[in-house]
Amino acid sequence: MKSILGYDLIQKFEEFAPTYLAEEGDPVGLAIGTLNKSVKKILVTLDVRPEVVQEAISKNIDLIFAHHPPIFRPAKNLVTDDPQIKMYADLLKNDIAVYVAHTNLDVATNGMNAWLAKAIGITETEIMSVIKREKYKKLVVFVPLANKNKMIQALTQAGAGEIGPNYKDCTYTVEGTGSFTPVNQAQPHIGQLNEIAEVGEARIEVMFPERLTAEIEKALFSEHPYEEPVYDVYTIENYVDQYGLGRVGNLKEPVTIEEFAKKIKDTFNVAGLRYIAKDTSKKIQRVAICGGDAGKLYPDAIHKGAEVYITGDVYYHAGHDMLASNLNVIDPGHHIESICKKELATLFTNWSKEMDWDLEVMQSTLNTDPYRFI
Ligand SMILES: [Zn+2]
Repeated sequence: MKSILGYDLIQKFEEFAPTYLAEEGDPVGLAIGTLNKSVKKILVTLDVRPEVVQEAISKNIDLIFAHHPPIFRPAKNLVTDDPQIKMYADLLKNDIAVYVAHTNLDVATNGMNAWLAKAIGITETEIMSVIKREKYKKLVVFVPLANKNKMIQALTQAGAGEIGPNYKDCTYTVEGTGSFTPVNQAQPHIGQLNEIAEVGEARIEVMFPERLTAEIEKALFSEHPYEEPVYDVYTIENYVDQYGLGRVGNLKEPVTIEEFAKKIKDTFNVAGLRYIAKDTSKKIQRVAICGGDAGKLYPDAIHKGAEVYITGDVYYHAGHDMLASNLNVIDPGHHIESICKKELATLFTNWSKEMDWDLEVMQSTLNTDPYRFI
């Protein structure tokens, strides 16, 4: 088994939920400590609370992997009489790093909202609120046949050729003949000055996201043997990656809103929940769900045809607006996001097996929901 650095683990994770998907200003990434150290034990948690830190200390954890950022408000001092500050000090003292995957995990194609949708059993799901559209470009480059494989390798290593979350290294190559006449001050890689040259060349086509344009061109220039590399870049009109919050889908059978609310209570194992409905016996089938505190996105749920919207932290006046719009709403609390512990642990365990890492993955056993019900 290979011992790994924190960096190795996080690099793999960020292929799954890249940090550029995070909302602006969201403090995702490394929050405390360093990733430049060996990581053997990782603890997955929804929240980093003082009791979670004690759990991590007692289990000899090297890295806490959390959904919610532990540093919400910048610290004004480092006085450890404040339990929040003491928590940071305990983490540093025990060399426990904290990494946060927050809104990037929410919008990742197979991340938090996809897990919630799976948990409640909706199918044919689509994104509820699209927040990012990523445009793609296509590169066509012509290289001598001898340089074909190296060029493909350079381009795919720079990130070209990924289509969706499940396919990478997608390229297309066709062989043909290129011709040119070097003139004036040319110092051609192949051929003689003032003589027409014919060269067996490969035409390589590959797609890449627009944000990688500079990296892809850099890779092309570093690998191309010609003085004047021949390449074209096209804008792709028919393919765009979409990312967003929430998912909308359908239940297998229509159920009454009251039955469905009871089912949600069981699914997420919560002691109680609130719901909003004009008629509790009305049957519903199309459901929207969004983790966290997403009451403000309810118009998107309506727009996508949802008959019921599940989200946390719905507040009083928003509840009135939802009721007036005839949208049924179930608020099982913010803590339903704790399903991420199980899902993240599965991801890390699978990667660990696949890559033969010396890594022990643990889930926090604590319930960090601040609310109780009577
Ligand atoms: Zn949350």
